[in-house]
Amino acid sequence: METRTLDGIVVGRQDQGEEDRIVRVLTAEEGLVSVWASRARRARSPFAVLDLAVRVRLTVRGAPGKGAGDLHNAVSVEVVEARVGLRTRLERLGPAAVACETAGALATTVPDPRLFGCLETALILLDQHDDDPAPGFLAALLTKLLTFGGVAPALDRCPHCGLPPSTPMAWSEVGGGAFHVHCLPPDAAGAARVDLADLAQLARLRRLPMLDAWAEPAIVGPMLSLVEAHLGHALRARAWLG
Ligand SMILES: [Zn+2]
Repeated sequence: METRTLDGIVVGRQDQGEEDRIVRVLTAEEGLVSVWASRARRARSPFAVLDLAVRVRLTVRGAPGKGAGDLHNAVSVEVVEARVGLRTRLERLGPAAVACETAGALATTVPDPRLFGCLETALILLDQHDDDPAPGFLAALLTKLLTFGGVAPALDRCPHCGLPPSTPMAWSEVGGGAFHVHCLPPDAAGAARVDLADLAQLARLRRLPMLDAWAEPAIVGPMLSLVEAHLGHALRARAWLG
């Protein structure tokens, strides 16, 4: 069977059996690709470098376009960016891990260069920026990933009536964002209030380039809840946010 090369970012790993691993790679050209890395957990395996957030060039065997469930087999790997810098501090590794898990969950086998580009830009910054990021960076990143993933958070229009935010507003993960309190769906009647200024900041961050969001303040909790409501389970990497 022919081999071919994937260029992408490792966004997930799952141990299989005694020593194998399935690695999920987000690529610009082919979207999300699952790769079987045989004996990847052996100490001297060349596939041990397939760690979260690493940019790799991976030679695989297996036909493309057969569907998300079809695995490719890893033949060889070359590390393009190890991103050692983002592993030195939890303040960087936490957002990186959340970003990889979120992008991996939103991606499909349909390529989306915006989703890929957003994650790549964020990981470069988390690896190389001199300071640690402020909460606005992760908030901006999550609003962008959700938007590119087709589940844009409702930040500047109430999903029920379509009008701009006005006091009081409430945050409904299930509804997809901020509602006027009197517009909340019946099953979300107990939703927490959200401040107009916090909402305006999230809407602004969605439009900012990632670098400009680096030192911005923001509330991150609502965006994390929105991601988890979309996934249907808690983000594993949330524990790394401290
Ligand atoms: Zn409304």
